[in-house]
This record gives sequence, C-alpha cells and structure tokens, in this order.
Amino acid sequence: MATLKALITLQGAKCITLGTKCFSTSTVRERKSYKLVVVGGGAGGCSTAAKFARKLGKGQIAVIDPAETHYYQPYWTLVGSGLKDVKDSGRPMRSVLPKNCDWIQDKAVAFDPDNCTVTTSNGELINYEYLIVAMGLQLNYHHIKGLPEAFDMDDTICSNYSRATVVKTFPALQAFKGGNAIFTFPVSPIKCAGAPQKIMYMAEHYFRKTGKRDQANIMFNTTLGTIFGVKKYAESLTKVVKDRNINVNYKRNLIEVRPDKKEAIFTKLDSDSGETETYHYDFLHVVPPMSAPDPLRLAKKIVNETGYLEVNQHTLQHMKYPNIFGIGDCINAPTSKTAAAAATQCHIVFQNLSAAMAGKSPHAEYDGYTSCPLLTGYGKCIMAEFDFAAEPLETFPIDQGKERLSMYHIKKDILAPVYWYLMLPGFWNGPKFWRLLLHLGMDTAVKPKQVPQQT
Ligand SMILES: Cc1cc2nc3c(=O)[nH]c(=O)nc-3n(C[C@H](O)[C@H](O)[C@H](O)COP(=O)(O)OP(=O)(O)OC[C@H]3O[C@@H](n4cnc5c(N)ncnc54)[C@H](O)[C@@H]3O)c2cc1C
Repeated sequence: MATLKALITLQGAKCITLGTKCFSTSTVRERKSYKLVVVGGGAGGCSTAAKFARKLGKGQIAVIDPAETHYYQPYWTLVGSGLKDVKDSGRPMRSVLPKNCDWIQDKAVAFDPDNCTVTTSNGELINYEYLIVAMGLQLNYHHIKGLPEAFDMDDTICSNYSRATVVKTFPALQAFKGGNAIFTFPVSPIKCAGAPQKIMYMAEHYFRKTGKRDQANIMFNTTLGTIFGVKKYAESLTKVVKDRNINVNYKRNLIEVRPDKKEAIFTKLDSDSGETETYHYDFLHVVPPMSAPDPLRLAKKIVNETGYLEVNQHTLQHMKYPNIFGIGDCINAPTSKTAAAAATQCHIVFQNLSAAMAGKSPHAEYDGYTSCPLLTGYGKCIMAEFDFAAEPLETFPIDQGKERLSMYHIKKDILAPVYWYLMLPGFWNGPKFWRLLLHLGMDTAVKPKQVPQQT
C-alpha cells in the first residue's frame, strides 16, 4: 500500500525548469526521459539528432516521428519531370536516424513546455531536458474544395508535393495532347517556393521536345504579386516566362476543382468583392496550402499567432522557453523554407544548444541563408541563394542569375548524395565554407540590412 501511495505521489510529480535546464522529479517507469528530444525526423531533425548523438552518446536522445520512410523531397521535382525514380526519394527512417538514438515511432500530439513533456498519440509522456522542434509543414489539400478526391478521379491533376501524387505528374505530361496546362501557387507560406514554377518550366520544355508546345497554353496562376521574392532572380525569371510565352496570372488563388467538368476555380485576390474565375484545364499541377502540423499549431504556448514555432530568428532558440530550439519549415524565421535552409540552421542549433547545455548564452547567428535551384528546362538551372534581406548570397564566383548547365547538374546529380551522405549524418553545415573559399576568403553577405524579428 505504501508503495502504491508513493507511486501515486510520484505520478503527480512535476518537472522543474531551472534557467535553461529542466529536470524531471518523476521516476514513474512508463515515463521516458531524455536529455534531448527531437520531434520530427525529417531533413532538420535527422541531421541535428546526428550531431547531438555524437556529442551526447547512447540513450540520451530520442527522435519522435511516426513516418516509416524518410523522404528527400527536393527529388520530387526531378521525379515529376521524368528524370528520376520516386523509389529513390525515400529510405527507411531507422536507416537514416543515428544508431545510438531511440526512435519513438509515434506522432507528437501535445506539448507541455512548463513541465518539459511531449505526449504521443498512444498516450506516452516523453520527458526532456532540451527539445528541438523539427516537424516540417502539413499539406492542406483538403482546403481546396474537391481535393484530395479529385486526384483519384482525374489523371490530369497532379502535384509534386506528396509521394502519392508526384507519381501522377510525368504520366500526365506524357498524356497531354494540348489545351490549358495550369500550374498553381497557394495562399500560404510553402516549402520550396520555387518548386511550383520549376515543374512548369520543365513541362514547357517537355512539350517543346515532344512537339506539343504549339497546342499548349501554359499558365502560372499564383497568389503572389511577383514571380519571385528576390529581385535578381525575379528579373531572370520574368525574362524566362516572356521568352517561353508563359502566361502569369498574379493574385489568383485556387479554391475548388471540378474534375467532372475539368474546371478549376480561382478567387481574384485583388478584387474587393471576392470575384472568382473559372478556368478549363487539360493539365493541372496543384500546390496545396500549407501550415505548421496541427499538434504544433495548436500548442499555443510555443507558437506565434500564425502557428509557427516562435524562435529568435538568429539564434533559433525559443523566445520564451530557453530549453527549446527550432529548425526547418515549422519555425517562424522569415526566410524561404528549404532543406538548404535547414542545413545551415542545423549548425546554428548545434552551437547554440551546446552552449545552452553548458550554461552559456547562445552566440551563433543564422543569417537566413536559403537556396532554390530553379530548374528552367532540361539542362538549365538558375541557382538562387539568398538571405533574410532577400539579397543574393551566392556560393560560386559566377553570375548565378543566369540559366546554367553546371547548376542543372548540381541539382540533378550532386545535391541528393550531399543530402544522404553529408547532411543527414550531421556533417554538412551549408555552403558557407565553400562560399568563402571560392570567393578567396571574402564574405559576400550584404551586412548592413537588419531584418526585424518576426513574431
Ligand atoms: C516538391 C518539393 C521540392 C523541393 N525542392 C527543394 C529544393 O530544391 N531545395 C531545398 O533545399 N528544399 C526543397 N524542398 C523543401 C525541403 O524538402 C523542405 O524544406 C525540408 O524537407 C524541410 O525540412 P524539415 O525537417 O523542416 O521538414 P521535413 O523534412 O518535411 O520533416 C518533417 C518531419 O516531421 C515529422 N512530423 C510531422 N508531424 C509530426 C508529429 N506530429 N510528430 C512527430 N513527427 C512529425 C514528419 O513525419 C517528417 O518526418 C522541396 C520540397 C518539395 C515538396
């Protein structure tokens, strides 16, 4: 009886936050405790876990992720273009996670930052001293009326943004006989903001190669008011769309698809009355609206008003809970959400969380580095690289605003091995070292512009 009473007392015991540390006073057997818990084993989570697994050793780290397979998502642009096999875009999650970390194959459903716990969908409480949130983005196809069902009903609707739908893209391009080929860009922030137009340029070139271009009316219906957020690359892309006779319709938001009539309905974001436009489509590439995953979005204590993890955009440490750090697409840093950004952030998180573990202040600063290899055809690529201030931060000492064969091969043949063999095992810190080397030690970063912290 005394033992039972003691157990009940312990079950109510809480974790105490002291400075940056969080100690569990509970010894309840069912509750697992780790020095470091990483939620999400994608690009950011896996690579950061690898760095800390080497530092902290066995049994100190857990990665929570329900996914059986880890996907290298940038590959999907190549899959949609018929250049690569979708099978090569994924590897078993266990094979990419560090050997000496525990993999909790479950979904995180709730965060209690005051008690330093994460709850999983089967009710397990995971206790941490330090937490890294790396949950990526949720695809909200269901926010478009008629989707996702239309994917099953119509072979001409596809999307490079998920494993299930990317396999439809190239067959739909092959089957296309002419008419309207429409490519969309949604109303929310998305991962790889260049990907919605990369596949359009590849499609345009594919139609030319196969003698179908004259029958195709290619449209980019985007919610944005500009083709790209960085002036230098926007100028290059504006020339590309003009030269290739692509019609860009700005401020158009896809709200519904009617596969029975082959109609796509868009709202005109620049009309006060919520006016809609209906387009007939013969090929439709849909990019879904995205958000932070629901369990994070709804964890009000740790997210900002738009649902992203609220970190200091330079140190990547949480604004209120110093034992929490964030990486990748799910954080509020005002930069383009890419694996390239996550690679650079990984190095910053490693340095600053290591400092926090040693009782020191974070000192490393993320500059917003991100990259987008904008494929503009078979054999052509504009390699966009830029920072928080939307200023180019180019690795190579050549004009990367030009379409180049060399950059195409970097995207097609080199970046995937870098991802699997250097980034995920925690050895790739982004291209800063190479940028300095190739620019003879001179940092090309534009320093003076300060970008205000987003909340
Ligand atoms: C078509 C396409 C093209 C792209 N092209 C490029 C490119 O050319 N260059 C580039 O750098 N980037 C590109 N990206 C973007 C890049 O893939 C992402 O930015 C990158 O994967 C983000 O890493 P992350 O760790 O934040 O998220 P992810 O890699 O998406 O990983 C998130 C992980 O969190 C897990 N998770 C989600 N919810 C939960 C939960 N509740 N509990 C536990 N785990 C959870 C998921 O299972 C997943 O494993 C592209 C993406 C797409 C889709």
